[in-house]
Amino acid sequence: MAGLVIPAHLGLGRRDCRQCRHHGVEGSDVVCRRYPPQVTVVLVPQGAPRVGQLAPQPFATFPPVVPEHVCGEFSPGGEGR
Ligand code: SF4
Repeated sequence: MAGLVIPAHLGLGRRDCRQCRHHGVEGSDVVCRRYPPQVTVVLVPQGAPRVGQLAPQPFATFPPVVPEHVCGEFSPGGEGR
């Protein structure tokens, strides 16, 4: 994912997502929990007796982030995981 990344040698890297209290870890992803989850609706093929039909299936996820990105919503208090 492209974006603004501050080089660590400038000493400003401490304000990244891992040091932010809004960050979370889900599996191998770092996610942002600053705002409610984003809902995506996927059309899923149905089994019998509705073969050939699609049904909407909602999924709610927190957006994954690149921990080194700069964010204006940064709030100290993360654990630096
Ligand atoms: S720095 Fe921004 S994107 Fe990262 S966890 Fe905090 S609020 Fe979310």
